[in-house]
Amino acid sequence: MDLIDVREIRVPNARDGLVFAPGERPLGGGTWLFSEPQPGLTGLVDLTALGWDPIRRTEAGLEIAATCTIAELAALTPRESRDPRPGQAADALFWQCAGSLLASFKIWNVATVGGNVALALPAGPMTSLAASLDAVAVIWTADGGERRTPVAELVTGVRSTGLTHGEVLRSLEIPESSLAARTGFRRIALSPLGRAGTVVIGRVDSSGETVITVTGGTTRPHQLRFDEIPGERALADAVDGIDDWYSDAHGTPDWRRAMSLLFAEQLRGELEAT
Ligand SMILES: Cc1cc2nc3c(=O)[nH]c(=O)nc-3n(C[C@H](O)[C@H](O)[C@H](O)COP(=O)(O)OP(=O)(O)OC[C@H]3O[C@@H](n4cnc5c(N)ncnc54)[C@H](O)[C@@H]3O)c2cc1C
Repeated sequence: MDLIDVREIRVPNARDGLVFAPGERPLGGGTWLFSEPQPGLTGLVDLTALGWDPIRRTEAGLEIAATCTIAELAALTPRESRDPRPGQAADALFWQCAGSLLASFKIWNVATVGGNVALALPAGPMTSLAASLDAVAVIWTADGGERRTPVAELVTGVRSTGLTHGEVLRSLEIPESSLAARTGFRRIALSPLGRAGTVVIGRVDSSGETVITVTGGTTRPHQLRFDEIPGERALADAVDGIDDWYSDAHGTPDWRRAMSLLFAEQLRGELEAT
C-alpha cells in the first residue's frame, strides 16, 4: 500500500541517525506498516542498514537483534528438532513460534522479530517466544541511553507496549538457563491457516522452576510461574486467574480460556513425564 503522507524514508547506518521527528516511526520489514493506512505517519526510519548481527551467542545466552528476520530466527531450530516431541529442548520453540506466523516465505524473509514485538498483536509469535523464555528487551532510548525490560512486561495490551516515541527496540536477550530448559508448545486456530486463537508454552528449567506462558488468547502475555511442576488444581486455578481473554474474529474469550486450560494441563502432564 502507498503511504501517501510519508515524505521521507531515512536509512541511517549509525545510532546518531535514530532521532525521530514527531511523525516518524521505525521501519523494520514493513510487512505491517505497508499493509494498512497509517494516519499521521510522515516519515520512516529504516533500521535494516544499521548492520546489527541478527543472532549472537554470548556467555549469557542468545542475543537476537530486532532486525533479525523470522526466517533467520526459524533457522535456529535444528532440522531434527522440527517435529514436535514431548519435553523437547527450548531451541525447538524458534521453529514452532516462527511457524505460528502463518505467512509466505516472502513475509518470513523480511518481517523482523523486533517489528513483531513492537506491533504487539495478541497473536504476535515473537512475543510468545520471548515471553516464554524470559527474554529481556534491550531498548535504545531517545536520549542516547539504553534500558532493559522483560518482554513479558513490555507488551501491555493489544497494539500497546511500553515503548515511547523515539525509543527503538534494539535486541532481545534470552538467558542460557531458558535455552537449556525443556519445553512444550501448543497452538490452535479456528481454521488450518488461521491466526492463533491461543498459544500456550510450557518450560521447565534445570532448577525445576516451571513457567507456563499464555499468549495469543489474551490481550498481553501471561507467565504463570511455579517453583516446580504444579499440580493439576494449582495450574488450573492460575490459568483461571487470567482476566483478559481476547475477543475477535479469531476466537471468543470462552473458547480461548477453555483451550488454554486444556493445553496447560496437557503440557503439565508432558513435562512431568519427561
Ligand atoms: C500474511 C500475513 C500474516 C501475518 N500474520 C501475523 C501473525 O500471525 N501475527 C502477527 O503478530 N503479525 C502478523 N502479521 C503482521 C506482520 O507481518 C508481523 O507482525 C511482522 O512480524 C511485523 O514485522 P515487521 O518487521 O514487518 O514490522 P514493521 O511493519 O516494519 O513495523 C511494525 C511496527 O513496529 C514498529 N517497529 C518495527 N521495528 C521496531 C523496532 N526495532 N523498535 C521499535 N519499533 C519498531 C514500527 O514502527 C511499526 O509500528 C502478518 C502479516 C501478513 C502480511
